Amino acid sequence: MINKLAIIGVGLIGGSLSLALKKAGKVNHVIGFSRTESVRAQALALGVVDSVATTLAEAVADADVIFLSVPMGAMSAVLVELAPHIKPTAIVTDGGSAKAHVVAAARQALADNFSQFVPGHPIAGTERSGPSAAFDSLYQDHRVVLTPVAETNPDALAMVKAMWDATGAEVLQMDVEHHDVVLAATSHLPHVLAFNLVGMLAQRDDCEDVLRYAAGGFRDFSRIASSDPVMWRDICLTNSDAILNLLEQYHQDLNKIEQAIKQQDGEYLIGMFEQAKRARDSRFNEPNLVDNSEV
Ligand code: NAP
Repeated sequence: MINKLAIIGVGLIGGSLSLALKKAGKVNHVIGFSRTESVRAQALALGVVDSVATTLAEAVADADVIFLSVPMGAMSAVLVELAPHIKPTAIVTDGGSAKAHVVAAARQALADNFSQFVPGHPIAGTERSGPSAAFDSLYQDHRVVLTPVAETNPDALAMVKAMWDATGAEVLQMDVEHHDVVLAATSHLPHVLAFNLVGMLAQRDDCEDVLRYAAGGFRDFSRIASSDPVMWRDICLTNSDAILNLLEQYHQDLNKIEQAIKQQDGEYLIGMFEQAKRARDSRFNEPNLVDNSEV
C-alpha cells in the first residue's frame, strides 16, 4: 500500500496510474502537479487525484512515491526542481518513453538519492492527452518495462514492480540501452513514418481528394499520426541516436525499393514483400496476443 503518491504531470499516463491504483485500493492519497490551473481543476473534478499542488516542492514534500509523467523534454528540469524537496526514503519513478535520457537526468539531479530512482515505461497509451484521457484500465494486460541500473535499490525496484502489478500490467525488465533500441524500432520509427506520410500528403494540392479515398489500410497506418506532437518531438530529441540509426537503415532499404521499381525488378519486390508478410503473419496472428502497442 502506498500512503502518499505524487503524480507529476496529471495526463493520460500519470492519471491512469492514479486511477488504477485507487481502483485496486493500493494508495491512500494521490496529489497531482500540473502547471496549468485548468488542468489541475479538471484532474480534481474528475477524481483523477485527491488533491493538487501548484509547486513541485509542495507536490513531493511528504510523498512516499513520486511518479514523473511529464513530456520527455521536461523530465530533466522537473527532476532538478523537485530533488531538494523529496524525503530521503521516497521512491522516484517515471513513465518516460526513452530511458537513457531520464536515467542520466535522474543520476545528476538526485545525486546521493539516485539509488531510489526506478526508471520505467508503460507500453500502453492512446492518442489522447490530459486528465480527461485517463482511465483505470489503461495498463490492464499491457506491458510495463522497468530498466533498473547497477545502483538501483532492490527494495525500491520491488516496490515499483508491485505498484505496476496492481494495475494489471505484466512487468518486464530490460537494460536501458536495449529498451531504447527496441522502442525506437517498434514505436518511435513507426510514429516518425506516420507523421511524415500524413504530413507529406497534407501538403499536396490534391490533398482533399487523396484523403477522401483513404481506405482502411491508410487509416490503420496513419492513426498514430494523431498522437501528441509535443510528446513525439521530445521522444525524437531524447532517443535520437537509436532513431537516427534506424532511419539510416530505413533510407537504405527504401532506396532499394525505389531502384527495384525503376528497374521493374519484380523479383526483388516480391521477395521483400513475402519476407515482411511472413514476419508479420507469424507474430500478429497468434491468438491471445497481448496488445503491446504504445498508442
Ligand atoms: P499528457 O497527457 O500530455 O500529460 C502530460 C502532463 O505533463 C500534463 O499534466 C501537463 O500539464 C504536464 N506538463 C507538460 N509539460 C510540462 C512541463 N514542462 N513541466 C511540468 N509539467 C508539464 O502526456 P502523457 O501521454 O501522459 O505522457 C506523459 C509521459 O509518458 C511522456 O514522457 C511520454 O513520453 C510518456 N508515455 C506516453 C505514452 C502515450 O502513449 N501517451 C505511453 C507511454 C509513455 P500542464 O501542461 O498543465 O503542466
